[in-house]
Amino acid sequence: MNLSQLTDQNLLENTRGLVKQERELIVEICRHLREIERRRLFSTLKYTSLLEYAVAELKYSETQAVRRISAMRLLRDVPGVQDKMATGEINLSHAVLAQTLFTKEKKARREYSAELKLKLIEKLAGKSAREAQKVVGEINPDMKIKPLTFDMIEDEVLREKLLRAKGKFAHQNPGMSLTELLHKLCDLVLQDSAPVRPRADSKAEVLRQVRRRAGERCEHCGSVHALEVDHILPKARGGKDEPANLRLLCRACNQRAAIEKIGAKKMFGYLKAPVRHYS
Ligand SMILES: [Zn+2]
Repeated sequence: MNLSQLTDQNLLENTRGLVKQERELIVEICRHLREIERRRLFSTLKYTSLLEYAVAELKYSETQAVRRISAMRLLRDVPGVQDKMATGEINLSHAVLAQTLFTKEKKARREYSAELKLKLIEKLAGKSAREAQKVVGEINPDMKIKPLTFDMIEDEVLREKLLRAKGKFAHQNPGMSLTELLHKLCDLVLQDSAPVRPRADSKAEVLRQVRRRAGERCEHCGSVHALEVDHILPKARGGKDEPANLRLLCRACNQRAAIEKIGAKKMFGYLKAPVRHYS
């Protein structure tokens, strides 16, 4: 199918349908893995474990295999999760997180009934990875997000730079944590160092006004990434460089606005990286 011929609406609908199938497939795959394990079928194929089978035979990466097996064990222990996974209320990451928590809790000799597990899993429904991590971290401190430390920085040159920067603040705060240092560095970069000029007619001042009015966020999606000032009525059609005709957009929203204004065909000619044709 040549996807570039689809209407925007059909493209979005098809994608939604595919993802629904993907979710149902993951549940089915977990159920199949469960049955393969129950029959010890991986042994017949001379694999020492289900994990080894999943990596070597099914070509999953180790991480992908571990996640699916983890979800499989959760589905085995808490059958009520199956429907929640099929609808997307609980995604694979939620399932892995919950199963990891239950394993840790079991090691600490805290046993949960299936009902209690399901109640806990319901607390993760619809949550972002960070929020979900917080929920499980409150139950088991081992699951807490670890605070940033300097020795977590793998890049030695960067670690050295950060330590030197920390040294610069040592007179104010000798035991500065990495989080505190990053706050400080970001504040330095983000502070509005340009003095506000009284003259509002210069172009730079108009642009600054637009950015300030938008709160330094894309006015369409709220992103703070790669912000650009867009002419609502294009300059080519007589749009002016005045605040009422200007808005702050992130690059992606600006490109989408251009696609809507001048048409996809013409715009794809200008765009390089983000839009490619797959058929
Ligand atoms: Zn945006």
